[in-house]
Amino acid sequence: MPPEGPHFDHLETNVLHAGRPDPPIEGAVVHPIFQSANFIMGDEATYGDVRYIRLNNTPSHRTLHLRLARIENAEAALVAGSGMAAITSSLLAFVGTGEHILAHDSLYGGTHGFLQKDAAKLGIAHTLVDCTVASGWEAALRPETRVFYVEGITNPKMQVPDLEAVVAFARAHKLVSIIDNTIASPANFRPLDLGFDVVVHSATKYLNGHSDLVAGVVAGSRQRVETVKHVLDHLGGTLDPHACFLLERGMKTLALRVERQNANALQLAQFLAQHPSVRQVNYPGLETHPQHARARKLFRGFGGMLSFYARSAAVADSFLKRVRVPLHAASLGGVESLVVRPSRSSHLGLAAEERARMGITDDLVRVSVGIEAVTDLVADFDRSLRDA
Ligand code: PLP
Repeated sequence: MPPEGPHFDHLETNVLHAGRPDPPIEGAVVHPIFQSANFIMGDEATYGDVRYIRLNNTPSHRTLHLRLARIENAEAALVAGSGMAAITSSLLAFVGTGEHILAHDSLYGGTHGFLQKDAAKLGIAHTLVDCTVASGWEAALRPETRVFYVEGITNPKMQVPDLEAVVAFARAHKLVSIIDNTIASPANFRPLDLGFDVVVHSATKYLNGHSDLVAGVVAGSRQRVETVKHVLDHLGGTLDPHACFLLERGMKTLALRVERQNANALQLAQFLAQHPSVRQVNYPGLETHPQHARARKLFRGFGGMLSFYARSAAVADSFLKRVRVPLHAASLGGVESLVVRPSRSSHLGLAAEERARMGITDDLVRVSVGIEAVTDLVADFDRSLRDA
């Protein structure tokens, strides 16, 4: 059953209008912020119907849920207090003590850390497999495996797992397939259309796009989203209504921003690929990328994220000190370009051997490409790498 509220054929229109109250509340063109913790009781049938801020069900949440469901082509969607709240609640909704998760062997550091430390403490086991090739998965499967978890484009190596094979494998073995679609964003890829069961996002990144809030999203069937909501409500991973307002505002330009970021990233990647101070560029839009054909088949655009190995860690170090347009900061997906060393940021929490296994070395620089004039970016990268 599709979500209610007005909706249209294209994401470009839905980011502005899907799910908006009809008629608008008090004629307001911008959806008001409902900064109220509680609401007058009606004839609520279940606890989830009680309107209370922690239950993510104020009018600020409701409009966003409808809009996000449309954007991901889902029956239902749910916002959360952070990407990690969305990810951990989704995992805990579908696995329990004594059960097992199959996951790609290159995950966002926070998710990896959760599996290794917190999930393990709860008696939830996991096995990491290389999902870029559909082999060896059967051997990792256990009778108690419940979830297959991947990222659409991985952070920071920009791999593209064999997503079609992941869906087929999960279906064949009755696993819930969960995908973190943060880096591709729904402007480039809609995993539910491919057959994934649940999509999660750090909305802190592209969905909001302005580096000024923390939020998460879960989307899928009504029943699965309800199952996740139960966990999220109890863990308390609520999104504040003011952040709902900011997220709704940021999302209005998702399509425009990502289109520009796709174009800028491709041009910058092509430039870096022939630069003498660069050893290797990881960007799915380059023909040299090992999963380029797959990315071309599955995605509308290749995304705004790339990473590169500088000639040495010293070159990476000096580049980060000299570069002027991008800010040297963690996180990604904002309108401004950012550069960072994953070994010192997102993956700092991992053991050094683990980082080495994943190829996250000190010469690896990750770039979140913004919407600046690409010629300014190229000139700045050139100067900073040459000076290095
Ligand atoms: N997933 C990916 C791919 C990320 O890059 C991040 C954060 O950097 C997260 C999830 C976690 O999101 P948040 O920081 O909003 O909790």
